[in-house]
Amino acid sequence: MRAQPRRGRTRRWPGRAVASVSALAIGAAGLAAASPAHAAEGCEVEYTVVNEWSTGFTANVAVTNLGDPIDGWELEWDFPGDQQVGNGWNGSYSQSGQHVTVTDAGYNATLGTSSSVQIGFNGTYSGSNEAPAEFTLNGVVCDGSTGGGDDGGGDDGGGDDGGGDDGGGDDGGGDDGSNDGGGDDGSNDGGSDGRVDNPFVGADLYVNPVWSEKAAGEPGGDAVADESTALWLDRIGAIAGNDSPTTGDMGLRDHLDEALAQAGDRPMTIQVVIYNLPGRDCAALASHGELGQEEIGRYKTEYIDVIAGIMDDEKYSDLRIVTIIEPDSLPNLVTNVGSRETATENCNTMKENGNYVEGVAYALSELGDIPNVYNYMDAGHHGWLGWDTNLGPSVQVFHEAATSHGATVDDLHGFAVNTANYSALVEPHFDVNDTVGGQQVRQSNWVDWNQYIDEQSFAQALRQEAVSAGFNSDIGMLIDTSRNGWGGSERPDGPSSSTDLNTFVDESRVDRRIHPGNWCNQDGAGLGERPQAAPASGIDAYTWIKPPGESDGNSEPIDNDEGKGFDRMCDPTYEGNVRNGNSPSGAMANAPVSGHWFPEQFQMLVENAYPPL
Ligand code: BGC
Repeated sequence: MRAQPRRGRTRRWPGRAVASVSALAIGAAGLAAASPAHAAEGCEVEYTVVNEWSTGFTANVAVTNLGDPIDGWELEWDFPGDQQVGNGWNGSYSQSGQHVTVTDAGYNATLGTSSSVQIGFNGTYSGSNEAPAEFTLNGVVCDGSTGGGDDGGGDDGGGDDGGGDDGGGDDGGGDDGSNDGGGDDGSNDGGSDGRVDNPFVGADLYVNPVWSEKAAGEPGGDAVADESTALWLDRIGAIAGNDSPTTGDMGLRDHLDEALAQAGDRPMTIQVVIYNLPGRDCAALASHGELGQEEIGRYKTEYIDVIAGIMDDEKYSDLRIVTIIEPDSLPNLVTNVGSRETATENCNTMKENGNYVEGVAYALSELGDIPNVYNYMDAGHHGWLGWDTNLGPSVQVFHEAATSHGATVDDLHGFAVNTANYSALVEPHFDVNDTVGGQQVRQSNWVDWNQYIDEQSFAQALRQEAVSAGFNSDIGMLIDTSRNGWGGSERPDGPSSSTDLNTFVDESRVDRRIHPGNWCNQDGAGLGERPQAAPASGIDAYTWIKPPGESDGNSEPIDNDEGKGFDRMCDPTYEGNVRNGNSPSGAMANAPVSGHWFPEQFQMLVENAYPPL
């Protein structure tokens, strides 16, 4: 497991000027691409300045196709002032005078009816920064109406699918938090597919006996040994049951049978991590897996198909099976590729060969066909994706994976964040928008211009971003709180009184890591919130996905037959790399290979639990 943060290259100030504009005007035509005569055409554009400072700004542009499906798009507008596009994402940008043209980025060329693409850019300006008055998509003016090229009659929407529910076109403004759907309204009815809205509500959670026994064997472990932890299917052999650290010699069937045995009157929810992509963990070494970069065929037939076959057994149809799909995979295709200084050869390969996207899509679609399976796609954590330049593009990759190779957004119940990471759930003593000594908290070394300082705010924002990008509006979030408690004697009990920005942040933050990019066996960490359903708006559960006490990686080289490497981020003597701001790793010594039981870590987590045990 890993998690590479990466700061956004843009350094900016707040101001949070939000100018949300839907362009208006009627018309059609121009250089439209390959749309047949009389095809329905129409689009809607929402242009939002999400950040603005004296000479620059960041804008997000959500484009929704209201007409027939499009393959290949070109979006154009004229700036009213001297705005100049700098770096943009999810498209190729060109500008001539005030005229801007953005063409699709290839992977997002196809835009079905009612589907949206979210693009964005950083720009500069002087004077005023008014939003463009009009946008065209393939030459058609985006005024929210659809027409067959002949009218602008507006609302023929009927033809196209009963749409409306993909959050795309009709949520104007989107992020008002109103549609959090997440089971906190008292009812837990799901949609039409028979699933409940939140599989954690009203349910008992499966206790993995293999983990529970190890936990109970440690001093103080009894207090948490009956908590639910996820089952990690981290290799093909774990399905049948070999000596995988988290499955033990129980295979998937044994665990599902045990879940039935544990079930009382209430529904039983069991969480299973799907974690065996080809070329796994491309930006780190500690969790390399058994499948080579090109072994997508084996991933499908020997792994996903076998898992799906078992989960689909009628016998298990009353269980709520929550899957967490492939931690630490897709965001690597954004943050650790190409010309980024964090790029790795392995991640470039996985982007080029498409096997991460295909594998995740396949898992979503095969498992999503099973009516009692609830798929949650892993979505990194705030210390990795919290910069606009990482978040928007990552959500696009998530969307691509959820709409390709047979997957649809309906296969996805939500996202999981902070899996196996240590980011604090909430930083109680300061806010990302605070200023100290005249400076923004965001400018501090610790925050490093991130938009978020904690996981819950990030999870809620990511949820909104995903809905705007075309995911269903009733998706919910899971936050892994297994090891982000940060209690114990080092936990500050109030904000610092320092007026020096960095001192203030360092003395106020409960996350005691040396750097938020550190991820391996973090010294000083504690158990976090105990698993609970619907704890906050948009959050389906706090849950323990990474079983506390299982190592993140070995602190020295150790021979093993699991494909796992030695990542220096797990070595306490390591001085760091670009992914953690060249800081010491903060890892504990004497750690075994990832996934293996690490008693000293478990005992530390118990001691530093927050809330305390
Ligand atoms: C390891 C897996 C293990 C999981 C849960 C990962 O870091 O690579 O082998 O199952 O953690 O402990």
